[in-house]
Amino acid sequence: MAGDRAGDYRILHEADLRDCLAGQPKLAALLGGEPAAWSITEVGDGNLNLVFIVKGARGGVAVKQALPYVRLVGESWPLPLSRAHYEYLALSKQAELAPGLVPALLHHNETLALTVMELLEPHIIMRKGMVAGTQYLRFVDDITTFMARTLFFSSDLALSAAEKKEAIAAFAGNHALCKITEDLIFTDPYRIAEQNRWTAPYLDGLAAHLRDDMDLHVAVSRLKLKFMASPEALLHGDLHTGSIMVTESETRVIDPQFAFYGPMGFDVGAVLANLLMAYFASAGHERAPGERQVFEGWVLDTVEQVWNEFSRKFLDLWRSEARGDAYPPALFAGEKGAARLEAERQAYMQRLFADTVGFAAAKTIRRIFGLAHNIDFELIEDSRKRAISEARAVRLARGMMVEAVAFRTIADVTGAARKLRDWMPELSS
Ligand code: ADP
Ligand code: MG
Repeated sequence: MAGDRAGDYRILHEADLRDCLAGQPKLAALLGGEPAAWSITEVGDGNLNLVFIVKGARGGVAVKQALPYVRLVGESWPLPLSRAHYEYLALSKQAELAPGLVPALLHHNETLALTVMELLEPHIIMRKGMVAGTQYLRFVDDITTFMARTLFFSSDLALSAAEKKEAIAAFAGNHALCKITEDLIFTDPYRIAEQNRWTAPYLDGLAAHLRDDMDLHVAVSRLKLKFMASPEALLHGDLHTGSIMVTESETRVIDPQFAFYGPMGFDVGAVLANLLMAYFASAGHERAPGERQVFEGWVLDTVEQVWNEFSRKFLDLWRSEARGDAYPPALFAGEKGAARLEAERQAYMQRLFADTVGFAAAKTIRRIFGLAHNIDFELIEDSRKRAISEARAVRLARGMMVEAVAFRTIADVTGAARKLRDWMPELSS
């Protein structure tokens, strides 16, 4: 591809992109036919980058290019192009650890901050499907395989200390993307920040309460510290339902540009938070009465199964594939050692669950009071209804963050969600 020298970065427009792809024999063959006849459409609906879908006579590809700034905000918020490098690195690693669950990589150009990958078609963004009330029956199995395998095999349970430290180093430069999380998730929703927004005026009182709630400030600050200071495993770093593309029979995880070594509960919590938000948003969307109950029941079952299956798969890997330097076998020999190690595995999962609950709560609150919202709530047109759904989610999230003793099992989480389903919050007016 043209432009492999440093400093040759430019934002690709259609003609330029066509030439770039045509210059790659493998890609040109995959697309097929005359380059002039390829259709090129920019479809990026994310907050950060450009995504083009290119189709030729034979096939199609998706092309993602990083911009030197945040797409959602514009040039006033610069963001390093290197995120494309980390996304590529993470996608390669995930493809190795969780085959078939990420789009296949076809080409990467470091200078242009550009990655060409498998076109996912007819997959749609899972969040969109869930807003429409669609159930995805493969989701639990696929996402739990993805999380269990990527998290376990990148951790000290699977790697030698040297491999693990090299892996941390390989992603350590992605700190600008981490900083976005540190600010937008763990800080801004709890203070006056220019970028914050919420469903006004109904949630004005709740927003003010959040800024004054010191128990919550302590809890979210502990989570922030854990996010910054616990390189447990290679995280996807942004594992919400907008980073998952699905059909009824397939699941693919996209967009790992926030990848870095962090606490495992951050990824698991992201999945649970986005399911719980879909649950509370459901009340605000048009659905036939019977369908509503079935859909909401499925969402809460999915929340429970995601944790239970993730936990089961992670523990199975630990029992059969633990070749890392943590928990040396020499210290757990014999029957007594085996029993003690198994008890320790359970204790580890209990701690991971507590992290997961906390991170899920932080992920929920930021979507309601921070910069980036989600369509689960945003597509509820009646702002009063939207505020009611959001306030229910926030009430659950606050409890999950500060009342850890009330959330020891995943059934505690779904039970509390169910109780809040018809709770009527006091709204500001
Ligand atoms: P951003 O980093 O800006 O969030 P994403 O990677 O999330 O970008 O992609 C933005 C959108 O582009 C997705 O919501 C999806 O609609 C589309 N997209 C991304 N990758 C693919 C792909 N491999 N196949 C088809 N569509 C894709
Ligand atoms: Mg995205």
